Amino acid sequence: MTPHTLFISDLHLTAERPHTNQQFFDFLSNVAPAAGALYILGDLFEYWVGDDDTEDALNSSVASALKQLTARGVKVYFMHGNRDFLLGQEFAARAGASLISDPTVIDLYGTRTLLMHGDTLCTDDVEYQKARAHYTNPQVKAQLLQLPLAVRHQQARKLREQSEASKAGMAMQIMDVAAAAVEGVLRQHGYPRLIHGHTHRPARHVHTVDGHACERWVLNDWYTRGGHLYCDAARCTAHGVSA
Ligand code: MN
Repeated sequence: MTPHTLFISDLHLTAERPHTNQQFFDFLSNVAPAAGALYILGDLFEYWVGDDDTEDALNSSVASALKQLTARGVKVYFMHGNRDFLLGQEFAARAGASLISDPTVIDLYGTRTLLMHGDTLCTDDVEYQKARAHYTNPQVKAQLLQLPLAVRHQQARKLREQSEASKAGMAMQIMDVAAAAVEGVLRQHGYPRLIHGHTHRPARHVHTVDGHACERWVLNDWYTRGGHLYCDAARCTAHGVSA
């Protein structure tokens, strides 16, 4: 087996979508064990109210499935998305995963590769960026985590509804990444490859930035089609859900 690394994002796992959850568990048992590492680039969960939400059966089974994978020698890395920004070290430890910051640069078999969730690239959505700056503030996060669990669940549901409502009235272009933002991060963090999720528009884009040929992989979400990005020393390729 060629040494390789897998990337997924935007699974949006929730008890309301058992089929997607099962696809994820199948992926963890059948596909991921052959990889050297698995990167989850945000929004693993539809929403996350805190690591103390231990009563939730889905959360526990995801943690133990990931833990089993790491026991088989696969490294698991987890980046926050906009839905699960409250996920913390406690859950990461239960899952055997390492939390990584957004953005993170890795050396992927000799190719400099920038990893992001992708929401910070959607700079045309000014309202969203304002809201993001608020809830990713460490003080705001700490305050949120002080609230009783039931209140946090209530707020998360409300946020989801608001997000659906605002997306419904918004031009598709505003919700996509801005070309200038993509060029900016490649310039800042180094060429030639960027992998991100969030927009749910899976594709391989090519960009020329300062004369450098760059590629940008956008990961698929799992509640429509699913799938993962496979990268080895030679190239990256997009794969659908097996099974
Ligand atoms: Mn997202």
